[in-house]
Amino acid sequence: MRAAILSIGDELISGQTLDGNARWLAGQLAERAVTTVEFRIVADDRAAIGTAIGELARRADVLLVTGGIGPTADDLTRQALGDVLTPGRELVTDPVGVEHLKRRFRPHHRRMPPSNRVQAQRPPDTRLLANPRGTALGIAGEHEGCRIYVMPGPPVEMRTMYRHQVMPELDLPPEAVRVTGQVHALGLGESAADERLGPITDRRRRPKVGITHSGSIVTARIIAEGPPPDPAATLAETRAAIVRAWTPYAYGVDDETIGSAVVALLRQRSRRLVTAESCTGGGLAKLVVDVAGASDVYVGGWVTYSDDLKRRCLDVPADLLHRHGAVSAPVAGAMAVGALAAGGADEALAVTGIAGPSGGSPDKEVGSVFIAHARRDAAVSVRRFRFPGDRETVRDRSAKWALQMLRWALLEVGRDVELLWEVPVDVASASCETSDIT
Ligand code: AMP
Ligand code: MG
Repeated sequence: MRAAILSIGDELISGQTLDGNARWLAGQLAERAVTTVEFRIVADDRAAIGTAIGELARRADVLLVTGGIGPTADDLTRQALGDVLTPGRELVTDPVGVEHLKRRFRPHHRRMPPSNRVQAQRPPDTRLLANPRGTALGIAGEHEGCRIYVMPGPPVEMRTMYRHQVMPELDLPPEAVRVTGQVHALGLGESAADERLGPITDRRRRPKVGITHSGSIVTARIIAEGPPPDPAATLAETRAAIVRAWTPYAYGVDDETIGSAVVALLRQRSRRLVTAESCTGGGLAKLVVDVAGASDVYVGGWVTYSDDLKRRCLDVPADLLHRHGAVSAPVAGAMAVGALAAGGADEALAVTGIAGPSGGSPDKEVGSVFIAHARRDAAVSVRRFRFPGDRETVRDRSAKWALQMLRWALLEVGRDVELLWEVPVDVASASCETSDIT
């Protein structure tokens, strides 16, 4: 079955209101394996609505329309529907509609404004659909073999009407025949991620897999279709295959975040984390604390923006700051070691970098970030990155990459495995790091 969705309203086409109705309806249809062939938005304009209804009805088997059936002068969907379905004929007043409106107004002892009467009207040869949540009744009709359902614009009313009046008439399968899942990876480029999946992303393969990229996270989206319980099983297989292909970059599936993945690992290993941040300004702490129950594994941290605070809170040697600058491998390492000692934790992460847009230099360009991980009774490990992007992006990437570094340390991933945008820590500062810190 092919569906089309038409949303009506000046506020939608002007960009003031996001068309949430179309998105929700398409999701509902997708779960039941109905393909939506088109979304369209038109203004509160009788001719434009009529044209859209006519065109979409020719392309689809079901047309879902929302908006424009209120009592005000800009609500023209019912008239436009009449223009298409029964041109030249008047709208008819439906006694069921009149009764519904009386019932809505009676309990409040309110007199029904005359403008509301239009809401009891419909084109001939159509039916009204009940609306338990509002005054606007829906309208069901047919045009050139396409079933048309007109529903109110307010999302609560639309959803209730779709669930109770429209969906039962569409003869859709009772259970979801389409299930979706996701795998998320961090520190892997989009094309490298694609290459690793090989034939898994072939457009003809089932379940279907697509790769998207958002917030520096690469996500594989899996769509499995078929009669239950089959799609769930094929989904699980494909998901596992993707996780294998993206190891050790894949950190979670579905709703998991890098923060929740790290918190879960720390809990499993009974390890407690402390953080020391400069350029991320608490962004790293936020990713951890966003996870409910983080207090079990997170002791807290510092935002040490100035050299002075790095010295006083984290015991970073003044000489180190002087010789290498605050944005350097030795200072990142010293921050992590200092935080570990002062915080009484098992694992420490430290971030120092140049988020920009100013502050860069030829040997430390904007986007240069050093992330250090320290652990009790182990050598501190520092990685250097050159993150592309504006200030916000560099800071966001720094925080996420730090958590992936910790995750890898907890999983004992080899130091030779590289993260995206990693650049070598220069030999001179790397040797300082060991001699100066320990
Ligand atoms: P209407 O039924 O056209 O009078 O719409 C009433 C209200 O519902 C509008 O003012 C919007 O706030 C909301 N609305 C209408 N259509 C949509 C839509 N497609 N997505 C989200 N909200 C909508
Ligand atoms: Mg409107």
